Amino acid sequence: MVFDVEAADLLIRDLRKKFRDGKTSSYEWRIEQLKLISKLIDESELDIEDALRKDLCKPQTESFIHEIAMSKKSVELAINKLKKWMKPEKVSTSIVTFPSYAEIIPEPLGVVLIISPWNYPFLLSVDPIIGAIAAGNAVVLKPSEVSPATSSLLARLLPQYLDESVVKVIEGNVTETTALLEQKWDKILYTGNGRVGRIVMTAAAKHLTPVVLELGGKNPVVVDSNIDLKVAASRIVSGKWACNNGQTCIAPDYIITPRDFAPQLIEALKQILIKFYGREPLNSMDLSHIVNLNHFQRLTKLLDDVNVADKIVLGGQRDEKHLQIAPTILLDVPRDSLVMKEEIFGPILTIITVDKVEDSFDLIIQEEKPLTAYLFTNNKELKEDFVRNISCGSICINDTNTQKTNLNLPFGGVGASGMGAYHGKFSFDTFSHNKGVLHRTLFGDVPVRYPPYKPAKTRLL
Ligand code: NAD
Repeated sequence: MVFDVEAADLLIRDLRKKFRDGKTSSYEWRIEQLKLISKLIDESELDIEDALRKDLCKPQTESFIHEIAMSKKSVELAINKLKKWMKPEKVSTSIVTFPSYAEIIPEPLGVVLIISPWNYPFLLSVDPIIGAIAAGNAVVLKPSEVSPATSSLLARLLPQYLDESVVKVIEGNVTETTALLEQKWDKILYTGNGRVGRIVMTAAAKHLTPVVLELGGKNPVVVDSNIDLKVAASRIVSGKWACNNGQTCIAPDYIITPRDFAPQLIEALKQILIKFYGREPLNSMDLSHIVNLNHFQRLTKLLDDVNVADKIVLGGQRDEKHLQIAPTILLDVPRDSLVMKEEIFGPILTIITVDKVEDSFDLIIQEEKPLTAYLFTNNKELKEDFVRNISCGSICINDTNTQKTNLNLPFGGVGASGMGAYHGKFSFDTFSHNKGVLHRTLFGDVPVRYPPYKPAKTRLL
């Protein structure tokens, strides 16, 4: 059956009615659904890993750590904190409204749309759903067609476990997403690239629908020379290649390091890569493959750019049939080359050298605000300057990728890397409206506020 604008319209009318009838608002309904998500994760581990293997050849350990365990951690936190998050917050009042009391009540927004991407297709679908349900909303998920095995698994599992009258999955591609975007939603959370982010925001603007855009960008890694090189190299390699072979929104995109230190850094990265993936990385079972031929060709185009052909210092091997590209490092490519202009989102890492580490700041600030920025150093002042001067979605000092595991930190971009944030309590807030309520009594009325005005007395208030 075709899912067109008419079907989308019927769907949202039905969901809105159920939302208005209060189907999703009670603590009991929310907690039950969250527990069912937890159960779904526990009982479907093998199916999830299998789908991720089909879509991305994702190693089982990575599927478990980055998708299954992260989703589980997120839902457990929501289950444990839901009561606290839902509780109205009492705030102080002023003499002007005496006697009174005031509170902030988090209320559900209504019917929300989640559009998820292919790179962490399970986590990035389920994690926003956890926030939307915790906040008491009806939800529609549109998973990515680029990861079809996970998309169909979600379409099978979610209705099997959750309240399918108010949690829906619509599979499809641009046609289905466009039909959904025509509708009036109460919030849209979109994860993906900035081009589609603009399409989403334009569609949302027609209805004044607020959006969260979880986009990407070029994430810099500044590497100082005063570090434990082995630890730093392991953590850079891990955040780049051991996370979906670079197909991660917060993966290191390019390194900036002092010129005289670059040879040591490259050697250390090389040794760690050999240790992790052997001398024939295309034979390794521990590297995800590129998701499809389009993305494979996009990445090989970056490498085949004549401006960078002689800049490969490591890797470069590829296998189109199996959609594999080896971990590849490029040194000092021209700043206007494609690989420096586009988000890489794959196993290629470039290294830019500078005279001194402080020169990295200008290079980063000249570019669009990244989703994340990394710094490896033991220099306290440099750390402080970096945190103060680099505007980006998040920062992690002396590691990569691990900031996402701290659910007390907001996860989201700024500027070109997105808007809004989620994770932990931020997910609940993202899908709630904080309603300010002032409770007054009918006694203690102060007539000075009413006409005819007496300015001298009003000033006493
Ligand atoms: P994708 O191709 O899977 O697209 C994401 C979603 O957009 C899909 O559901 C798809 O159906 C929909 N879509 C595609 N074209 C559309 C159109 N014309 N109109 C409406 N909807 C459309 O994923 P992608 O964009 O290739 O994902 C990679 C990007 O996502 C990278 O830039 C990456 O950095 C970013 N990303 C960001 C985060 C984050 O949390 N900030 C996480 C993962 C990925």
